[in-house]
Amino acid sequence: KVRVRFAPSPTGGLHLGGVRTVLYNYLFAKAHGGTFVLRIEDTDQNRYVPGAEQYIIDCLEWCGLSPDESPVKGGPHTPYRQSERKELYHKYAKQLIASGHAYYAFDTPEDLEKMRHDLRKDEHTPAQYDSSTRMKMRNSLTLSDAETWELIESGTPYVVRIKMPENVTVHLSDMICGDMSFESSLSDDKVLLKADGMPTYHLAVVVDDHLMEITHAFRGQEWLPSAPVHVLLWEYLGWKDKMPRWAHLPLILKPDGNGKLSKRDGDRLGFPVFAMNWNDPKTGELTSGFREIGFIPQAFVNMLAMLGWNDGSGQEIFSMPELISKFSIERVHKGGAKFDFDKAKWFNHQYMQQMDTAALAQLVAPYMDKEMGPGNWDMNTLLTVIPMIKERCTLLPDVWAQGHFFFRTPELIEKAAIADKWNDQKQLFFTTWADVLATLDAWDEPTIEASFNEHVQQHGMKKGDLMLPFRIMLVGGKYGPGVFAIAALIGKGETLKRIQVTLA
Ligand code: GLU
Repeated sequence: KVRVRFAPSPTGGLHLGGVRTVLYNYLFAKAHGGTFVLRIEDTDQNRYVPGAEQYIIDCLEWCGLSPDESPVKGGPHTPYRQSERKELYHKYAKQLIASGHAYYAFDTPEDLEKMRHDLRKDEHTPAQYDSSTRMKMRNSLTLSDAETWELIESGTPYVVRIKMPENVTVHLSDMICGDMSFESSLSDDKVLLKADGMPTYHLAVVVDDHLMEITHAFRGQEWLPSAPVHVLLWEYLGWKDKMPRWAHLPLILKPDGNGKLSKRDGDRLGFPVFAMNWNDPKTGELTSGFREIGFIPQAFVNMLAMLGWNDGSGQEIFSMPELISKFSIERVHKGGAKFDFDKAKWFNHQYMQQMDTAALAQLVAPYMDKEMGPGNWDMNTLLTVIPMIKERCTLLPDVWAQGHFFFRTPELIEKAAIADKWNDQKQLFFTTWADVLATLDAWDEPTIEASFNEHVQQHGMKKGDLMLPFRIMLVGGKYGPGVFAIAALIGKGETLKRIQVTLA
């Protein structure tokens, strides 16, 4: 039975890479009738950001990627927060010490600083705590058992470190990267249990993936260097035959393919899924995200799916059920995926075109509330307007930008701004046409257009010279759908008012 997990550390907003990991986990679980677990890896108290866990849960909800088991939903492996599982890891740390694969280390920060300092003088030794240095330090490998116990009993702070083997090649068969091998001596003796009694990520991730019966572990390629340590821990704990299958997902790159996408990019490349309610600890600024700038969740998720995967057919728009049936982890590219903001917007544009009008109106409503105030605009008008303008809309707030004049009189248009070639003839045309319009019984697009055409003929003028001024009068700009359709929808009174305001 397939069980996958997303295991974020609650240290800040969720960015593209993280939420794509969620998506691939989710798709894989759904395709295999499996279970998708959310586990919060909050053992690093220094990096903990209050509210970040709720934020992650809300993001998953917004994307429609809710986990089957989580700290909120519970499940057979409660608790799903590592800080609440603290005691549990000690047993395994002790087991590793007993089998000779880990050891106690009592080095003070000063000791470690001195070690690094001494090593720096010697260019040939890597500056790490490993087989070349561990015998010079204060740990249970260099101290006698009696000395070790005395230090522990007397309350001396200690950590537990893995004893990395020398000259061992660690193999890993990755579902995306293929067969990989790592030289054990390149990795240092990672801390497994910290002085505060909390496990580090390395110990906790292995213990929990085992206890939670995870069958497949997908995570970003930035975790590849840690993989050999994890593989060894699986082996040392005697669980190697139950180790999950790994898939390390490609990094997300800037459109030019240069460099990894970073949270600090400061532009939309580094956008979180949605705004965080706290100041971003990294930049100290309030952030906005894909949700706020007006992405449709389904479009956002579809875009994410394509960041590193395709089904080989050239198809780009996939519904969620289609993604579930077509997605396969083996087809995920090894190389970095390029994120292009314009392409992301293209997905949103597509979804705006194909989406049901009523559903789209629901998503646009908050932006209407923001502009007009809740209750101060008409939903039926919005439902009529959306099909008229959606082709010009890429993000949700574009509905307002492209259609505000249906809801509110544009700011007074100066005649000079209407067209630089304004003249008495045009002034006369609109003054007299306004009188004609006022007498019309019917008020619909064909009637208004016919009246316009007739009046143009009577005045012996050119239609092309008059359409644009009329549009600017109604819209306040040179854009928008058919001008007679606009007049029909805003109504006779409003149309006359906008003409007269301009002529005055
Ligand atoms: N806690 C790790 C993170 O924050 C999880 C890595 C993994 O999935 O193993 O990304």
